[in-house]
Order: sequence, then structure tokens, then C-alpha cells
Amino acid sequence: MVMFFVVKLKDLFEKQRDYPWQKPDNCPCCNSQRLWGHGFAEAIFDGYDKPLLLKLYRCPDCGCVIRIRPKGYFKRFQARVETIRSSITLKSKSNRWLPGISRTRQGHWFRALKKRIKAYLTETWVKGVVAGFDYLLQLGQVPVSRSI
Ligand SMILES: [Zn+2]
Repeated sequence: MVMFFVVKLKDLFEKQRDYPWQKPDNCPCCNSQRLWGHGFAEAIFDGYDKPLLLKLYRCPDCGCVIRIRPKGYFKRFQARVETIRSSITLKSKSNRWLPGISRTRQGHWFRALKKRIKAYLTETWVKGVVAGFDYLLQLGQVPVSRSI
């Protein structure tokens, strides 16, 4: 189970295990209010050369493990949602990639999005890839996820 909270990545990078995490009020699985710390999970983010430690909680009542992820990032993605969207926008409008991020990664995002639009919004979708990105996002999906 993943919960998205505002996380100051720069502070987290500096403070590591001493970062003041905001504890969820209750377990998202069973609503229990007894959540225990359950260590940390490493995660890579753009702009940081070492993995950051994301806090884990465990609910003693139902056994659910909760991972805290920073708002503004998709699960399993290192780049900000806004950065991914900018890349898609630039590619679709002027057929170029954003500077500073590998073309391979940007190509993966773009192709995954097109595949997903086809799968979920079908061939009848004519509003373009950027609108498709926003629409899938509204549906609660990760628009550039490769698993369909
Ligand atoms: Zn629980």
C-alpha cells in the first residue's frame, strides 16, 4: 500500500534517517490507528546521486505495510510528474526531447503513454497525447506505466 505525502527531498537527502516523517493518521487497509515504524526502503530520484530512504510503516492489526512516497512523483518513477509531462509535451509539439534527461528514458515514457492511450482510450481518442496524459492521470492511472 502506498500513500503520497509532501516530502522535502532535499531535507530528506541531508537528514536521512532523522528526517521528520509525518505519520499517517490511520491504516489505509483497516483504519487502525496503531501504526508502527517498519524501517526504510531505498528509492532513486533525479537530482540525487544516492538513494533516498523512504519510511515504511506496518499496521500490527492487519499486517499491511505502508510505503510513503513523495507527492509529485509516480510510483517507481525517478522523475517528477511535471518533468515527464513537459517531455511528452515537447515531443508531441516539436518532436524534440528535454535536455538533461536521457532520450532512452523519455522515449520509454512517450511510447508507454501511446500504448496506454490505445489500450484505455482506444483508437477513437483524437485529443492528442498530452490530453491523454492528463485524462489518464485524472482516472488515477500512471499514464507512462508500461504495465497494462
Ligand atoms: Zn491495518
